Amino acid sequence: SIVTRFAPSPTGALHIGGARTALFNWLYARGRGGKFLLRIEDTDQSRSTDENKQAILDGLTWLGLDWDGEPTSQANNAPRHVEVAQAMLASGHAYKCFSTQDEIEEFRETARAAKQSTLFQSPWRDVAPADHPDLPYVIRLKAPRDGKTTLHDEVQGDVTWSNDQLDDMILLRSDGSPVYMLAVVVDDHDMGVTHVIRGDDHLANAFRQNLIYEAMGWAKPVLAHIPLIFGPDGKKLSKRHGATGAAEYQQMGYPAAGMRNYLARLGWSHGDDEFFTDAQARDWFDLGGIGKSPARFDFKKLANICGQHIAAADDAALLHELQAYLASVGEDPLTDQQNARFLQAMHCLKERAKTMPELFEKARFLMIDHPIERDEKAQGLLDDVSRGILSELTPQLQNATWTRDTLEEIVTALAEAHDTKLGKLAGPLRAALSGRAVSPSVFDMMLVLGQTETLARLQDASN
Ligand code: GLU
Repeated sequence: SIVTRFAPSPTGALHIGGARTALFNWLYARGRGGKFLLRIEDTDQSRSTDENKQAILDGLTWLGLDWDGEPTSQANNAPRHVEVAQAMLASGHAYKCFSTQDEIEEFRETARAAKQSTLFQSPWRDVAPADHPDLPYVIRLKAPRDGKTTLHDEVQGDVTWSNDQLDDMILLRSDGSPVYMLAVVVDDHDMGVTHVIRGDDHLANAFRQNLIYEAMGWAKPVLAHIPLIFGPDGKKLSKRHGATGAAEYQQMGYPAAGMRNYLARLGWSHGDDEFFTDAQARDWFDLGGIGKSPARFDFKKLANICGQHIAAADDAALLHELQAYLASVGEDPLTDQQNARFLQAMHCLKERAKTMPELFEKARFLMIDHPIERDEKAQGLLDDVSRGILSELTPQLQNATWTRDTLEEIVTALAEAHDTKLGKLAGPLRAALSGRAVSPSVFDMMLVLGQTETLARLQDASN
């Protein structure tokens, strides 16, 4: 069965590119009844921090990318990495190299002068295994020096490298510590990883890693190296373009489902489908749909997709997500009454909101009780003339059946009677109901507020 993994280095928070890599691995595994594992690549102890690790886990959790089992720590597996290096030494696929840094430098200078490859060729490679108890040594992998290697990649196709481009890489350093390249292969093997889906900045590593698989006689995983994400200008995505951290999108209040949808589309496609559910994404996702050229991050499209997900969301689930958002930005929790009003109004609030704060702002009129405060613009809309018209509205609304059609009819007729456009009347009405000059549709507000609260607010405004 399928096993994928996400293997972030905790040297920074979760980047949007990392989030997409995790998503692709998650979709691939979840769509096939497989496992999605998480491995923290914390071998670089000087740059790895617990805060970064926690930020990565939090980011994945926010995005709903659940992993199977406990996250593993690569650093903890160091003894096993050493064991595998020793096994390669014993089988003759690796050797002890006693060359000093000075000797290696000298080799390079000579090669440079002779216009030959400066990749180090150790003199210890082909001598009988020797022990020099007083000398420090590294363990190097014996790499082929001629010929070519072709690797098949599900995204890049067949990729061929000339073997003379790789030196005999170090597996264990002179202090006995294993190198990263070895750790990745051993961990992938031990975790039973069947598919390695990661950024194409790791494609060159795949050729080195391949040598370790061959030396150990291990089954190789399927490879899929995905192109990096570019900004709208076609350059590598960076802070210059906008937010690059997953947490920043969480703080801006983008819905997680919209984020997943947009990130899935970033470099992968399924026909012309732009909007899809998680279930569809899981069904449709495959490696063949990943494009060969870098996708461009389009902030407008992200907002647009997020708006569609908010509009399509289940009301109660959306309220739940909003509550989580408010908590994450340190807002007071909603009261029971506010929750109830929110839920009742959600069907009209969720139209045209692209983020949680937009949704919250649209509901502002609901969160307050009369007498409501009005901002300056709203106050400006309530001049004598419009207050006069509004006071005519009150008795008509007192006898109205509280349906959209009736309300529209009454307000339209009143506007006509005063020879003014509906839009002109909507302004003061909006100011009276919400205290703002911008708000959801006045009819939506009246329906959600109900007759009593609507009349009370109109009464306040016409005084
Ligand atoms: N730790 C690597 C990174 O964060 C990923 C290595 C891999 O996926 O093989 O870029």
